[in-house]
Amino acid sequence: MMNYNEAEDDVHFSSNATTPLRPDAFSLTDDQKIESIRANVEQILHTLGMDLTDDSLKGTPNRVAKMFVKEIFGGLNPDKKPKGSTFDNHYKYGEMLVEKNITVYSTCEHHLLPIVGRAHVAYISSGRVIGLSKMNRIVDYFAKRPQVQERLTLQIVQELQRVLGTPDVACVIDAKHLCVNSRGIRDIESSTVTSEFGGKFKEAAIRKEFLDYIKLDTTF
Ligand SMILES: [Zn+2]
Repeated sequence: MMNYNEAEDDVHFSSNATTPLRPDAFSLTDDQKIESIRANVEQILHTLGMDLTDDSLKGTPNRVAKMFVKEIFGGLNPDKKPKGSTFDNHYKYGEMLVEKNITVYSTCEHHLLPIVGRAHVAYISSGRVIGLSKMNRIVDYFAKRPQVQERLTLQIVQELQRVLGTPDVACVIDAKHLCVNSRGIRDIESSTVTSEFGGKFKEAAIRKEFLDYIKLDTTF
């Protein structure tokens, strides 16, 4: 059994695709996490000098806590991982399948600010195919974590390689980081492109075919 994680000729900014979670990451229930985060967000706003008895602010700590646990960081919980059901490739379609412009909403783990962009995912079937919406769900699941874009790209590729049983998977993500666009150097136009090419996508012609399909005219 080949280990697709060990693409020895690949050089990554960070080759470790695992989200740094502690072993006790799920020892608290979601409700316990929400209560703990609520109290901490309240403390942050209080420290900033905000009046939390104000009608507009009263519900904010609880709202933020629920949003963290249930929504924007909901993809930390392995129970939420999309079932990677595949089916037989009856048509014997051996060409490249590209799903482009998948919306990415993630959160930069260095600043806890949004990453907004598009993912373009491709694979060449080795006999199994996956529902198209499943590819969107896999992107969304890994996006809903504190992330760095390089790791997100790798996690999507490795999950699809596992589900499809083939190394021939590629992903390109083009995204804006609000930590770059809205603060620091405030460059509103710049976006960041990351890519991971597995198996046959390392071959120049195959890689070019994929990049020609997506053309990187990403709009978001
Ligand atoms: Zn950042």
